[in-house]
Amino acid sequence: MTPASTIGAIYQQLSDELAAAGIEEPRLEARMLMSFAAGLEQSRIIGYPEAEIAADTAAKLNNLAERRKTGEPIAYITGHKEFWSLNFKVSEETLIPRPDSETLIEAVLAELPDKSASPRILDLGTGSGCLLMALLSELPNATGLGVDINPETCEIARENAEQLGLTSRAKIKTNDWMTGLDGEFDIIISNPPYIVESEIAALEPDVKKFEPHLALSGGADGLSAYRLIAAQCRAHLPPNGLLAVECGMGQVTDIKGIFEKNNLMVKNVHKDIANVERCILATVQKT
Ligand code: GLN
Repeated sequence: MTPASTIGAIYQQLSDELAAAGIEEPRLEARMLMSFAAGLEQSRIIGYPEAEIAADTAAKLNNLAERRKTGEPIAYITGHKEFWSLNFKVSEETLIPRPDSETLIEAVLAELPDKSASPRILDLGTGSGCLLMALLSELPNATGLGVDINPETCEIARENAEQLGLTSRAKIKTNDWMTGLDGEFDIIISNPPYIVESEIAALEPDVKKFEPHLALSGGADGLSAYRLIAAQCRAHLPPNGLLAVECGMGQVTDIKGIFEKNNLMVKNVHKDIANVERCILATVQKT
């Protein structure tokens, strides 16, 4: 049997291996892997370097490090990602929630000064459900429907609703955008796929090799989902209803054009933490 090693020795070895593989934050990721594999608090990893780690845990960590070295995102290895300070289950079927997408949450909340309001929210392409659940967690009387074309993603979104205690307010349905959906929603949100198909090959390896193509590719010009959303959403938005979409870098002008052609009035554009225009808010134009 391989002898057990100490937390400190393994931490150092993993950090060195991840650094050599070009991982940007090797020590943080080493701690994340150790915390996942050994069930250790991250503070314990730093505070108790002399504590022993069982040989089978060390072997498991070795495997996880090998996966990470091939570029597999740490969120897929651990099966979790934090978004809006909430913990989300993720899998290879779901896009990994990005901090950039918190811009949409901030943008929508800024439009709702009364947090006790009870809007009905529709989330298109819900994935892990992170956008919908983040909004529901901030708006205790809101209800929501998350739709996604992938039934496996819907399963993950349902699990997230459950572990966040939101099942009674968050319904999840396998559906192709708004096709066949009934009813109106006060707020429609989406982080649709928006990468130009021909640019996917140039994305970071961990994104292009591991994240779902369906959640990334926005077709030949990256905008096909926005055309669809713009065309379908009028039937589901009341006069003061709000549409909030995330967009890719440099896409705002084109998306505004698509929205205006569909009689949607652009209200506001919000920038993300890197100062990139990331979220567009629109309403239905009165005719
Ligand atoms: N934000 C993701 C990226 O740039 C893309 C997500 C999307 O297409 N909606 O990798």
